[in-house]
Amino acid sequence: QHRDPDQSEFQEAAFTVLDSLEPTLEAHPEYVKANLLSRLVEPERAIQFRVPWQSDDGQFHVNRGFRVQFNSAIGPYKGGLRLHPSVNLSVVKFLGFEQILKNSLTGLPIGGAKGGSDFDPKGKSDSEVMRFCQSFMTELQRHIGPDLDVPAGDIGVGGREIGYLFGAYKRLKGYQNGVLTGKGLTFGGSLARTQATGFGLLYYTNALIKAQGDTLTGKRIKISGAGNVATYAIQKATELGAKVITVSDSNGYIYDPKGIDYKIVKQIKEVERGRIRDYADRVASAEYHGGSVWDFDVDYDIALPCATQNEINKDQAKLIAKDGVKYVCEGANMPSYPDAIAVYRDSGLLYGPAKAANAGGVAVSALEMSQNSERLSWSFETVDNRLQDIMEDIFEKSKAADQKYHLDKNYQAGANIAGFEKVATAMMAQGLV
Ligand code: NDP
Repeated sequence: QHRDPDQSEFQEAAFTVLDSLEPTLEAHPEYVKANLLSRLVEPERAIQFRVPWQSDDGQFHVNRGFRVQFNSAIGPYKGGLRLHPSVNLSVVKFLGFEQILKNSLTGLPIGGAKGGSDFDPKGKSDSEVMRFCQSFMTELQRHIGPDLDVPAGDIGVGGREIGYLFGAYKRLKGYQNGVLTGKGLTFGGSLARTQATGFGLLYYTNALIKAQGDTLTGKRIKISGAGNVATYAIQKATELGAKVITVSDSNGYIYDPKGIDYKIVKQIKEVERGRIRDYADRVASAEYHGGSVWDFDVDYDIALPCATQNEINKDQAKLIAKDGVKYVCEGANMPSYPDAIAVYRDSGLLYGPAKAANAGGVAVSALEMSQNSERLSWSFETVDNRLQDIMEDIFEKSKAADQKYHLDKNYQAGANIAGFEKVATAMMAQGLV
């Protein structure tokens, strides 16, 4: 805390994890002796750089770029790039730290990293986004590689941005298709990567619900966000027999008691790059309201926050509990403040934390790396089946840790412990590095 007094997001993520590791530290005094936690919270490397670019009107701009390579104990660094005005070192460190344990939970050999810039892609032309990506990659290329560090997308970085970043990398370093994931299908991308985080969230949620002897069928779900994660979460929830009643962006939300149609969300967000309020112009049963969807009072069963960090505060968590919700599973990274999570537990809600519930995206990114190494492309069904197995396995690992340490269905602590124990074993084996 004294080293990074201004890094509130990073501190929130780190303390939440460290608090839950007590049972495993008691069982493994050798971790304490080796000062493993102090090493875990310190990135192996944090790079900050200047990103100059020119807008269409001829003006010059400078943004700040970041890549935090947090931990490579179990494999090459892996984690997304975020383009959003709120990006700073604290945000990138919180995301990179979460990524260590998330990647470990997938069971695949990938370390933890994250990066991005405070550039805002909203309202920029394709040429401006391209020029920014080329400038960003001019520096980033020094630090990444297929066996070293493999970035992917996150908020503000979708297929268009990954394409521009990949083109810029190729020009500087030659064709190495394993250097980025989330690529287009014509140049080494994996089928089902676009859907992976949203679909994976539902596979995890389904596993959690089934373990309680309950079912997703007929459940009413509130989803926040209208981006990549939210869109495919709506699709899979609908396919599994549930009804999604909300979708949102940073201006407001849509409520449709008849159920949100993911195809319309896709059209508005992916094709037209429009705002979610446009949904109400096309669907008679839909209402648009300004403000946060988490302040909207309506009865439902499952909350799936899929927008951004710290979108649910304590009072909003109380409303979630009051509205009769039984399960909260996180598609976004760290959407719930720590005191909101405390409300979930006190109210008897079951909680699936981000690092477990949204690990599907990075899992399929790692499968994209495998396909690139093999120079093969797997079918949609093969990737989707692997994704489903991985998400069910993540829930099982979290449940096993919860049971081993008698945590009373605390799947958050279970996920932290299960992810941590693999990383800790690898760090111990590799000596003081
Ligand atoms: P997108 O950029 O595709 O979408 C983000 C969505 O969230 C947009 O609808 C955006 O609305 C909304 N949003 C952003 N900030 C706020 C805010 N302050 N209040 C309300 N809504 C907001 O991002 P993704 O869907 O890719 O990512 C969403 C979350 O999921 C992030 O936390 C990300 O880290 C996490 N995640 C993503 C993965 C992936 O594979 N894409 C993998 C794992 C986690 P607006 O357009 O108004 O900004």
